[in-house]
Amino acid sequence: MNWSQELAAGFREQKQLLKYLGHDEASGSLGAQQQFSTRVPKGFADKMKRNDFNCPLLKQVLPSSAELKLIDGYVIDPLQESQFNMMPGLLHKYHGRVLITIAGSCAINCRYCFRRHFPYQDNRINLKQWQAIVDYIKNDSSINEVIFSGGDPLMVQTKRLAEYIEPLESIKHLDTLRFHSRMPIVLPERIDAEFLELMARLTLKKVMVVHCNHSEELCPKTAQALADLKKKGFVLLNQSVLLKGVNDHSKILAELSHKLFGQGVMPYYLHLLDKVKGTAHFDMTVADAKQIYKKLQIILPGYLVPKLTREIPSEKHKTLIN
Ligand SMILES: *Cc1c(COP(=O)(O)O)cnc(C)c1O
Ligand code: SF4
Repeated sequence: MNWSQELAAGFREQKQLLKYLGHDEASGSLGAQQQFSTRVPKGFADKMKRNDFNCPLLKQVLPSSAELKLIDGYVIDPLQESQFNMMPGLLHKYHGRVLITIAGSCAINCRYCFRRHFPYQDNRINLKQWQAIVDYIKNDSSINEVIFSGGDPLMVQTKRLAEYIEPLESIKHLDTLRFHSRMPIVLPERIDAEFLELMARLTLKKVMVVHCNHSEELCPKTAQALADLKKKGFVLLNQSVLLKGVNDHSKILAELSHKLFGQGVMPYYLHLLDKVKGTAHFDMTVADAKQIYKKLQIILPGYLVPKLTREIPSEKHKTLIN
């Protein structure tokens, strides 16, 4: 199967996923699924523990009635990013870097995600709008890095990706192309020969920030995909979100760092949850996060300790916590 077929074969109903894992099909929450649909690649489900609702992989993707509770302080756009949305698809918030949304969907729907409310419809870009984005970048020589973000940028077919990237290659002040993608982890088949060939042709420096939250997400297939990326010159980094009930323990995070390193990925950020409506049950207090982080620093060599950060609206960089 090619990656599009793998993608199409994924679960789109909590009922089927639960059945596949040997669970009572009545668990989960239809109301929550209606708000934000279920999407789980089969390969990701295969890494889950059967008959275990505490499985850290299942918890990230199974709709839950807790999402429907309204909780003060958890809102639709906690980062107030619309003010930095310079044109459809382009976010210019960080100095030197622009963030471009080239895809409105992901291979997996993570329940804690800000994307559950984001107006992607307004941000879907056509090739004409792409030209406007290219011009914007051309006209601002302070921009040296383009970040493909999402949704998941690797949801875009490679041929289309090539059309996006080619005009960037000739902008002199650009030197780095970065992807933020969960696909090398949740659908490693995406890193196929066609994509690798395109990447090998680029003169831009390449960075891939994978989003992995738990060591059990890593497997021989992710190892292969990551090794292939590295061979094409990618710098590989990981960003995790600190999630209650999923990875809220120093030992779990240490294991994740070690296993990532084993697959050639350096831990980069450990992000506190953005306070998105419907995700409060995953959140932790800053005090609790700090405590876990302190223990993590004791048991890991410095180079395997991710930076503990959070996003504060109006701040033009992530804010380090410590
Ligand atoms: C924080 C963040 C960035 C920018 O990160 P830096 O590494 O601080 O430049 C880009 N994309 C996503 C998805 C992020 O969370
Ligand atoms: S943007 Fe990232 S966290 Fe959100 S649903 Fe997509 S893969 Fe999951």
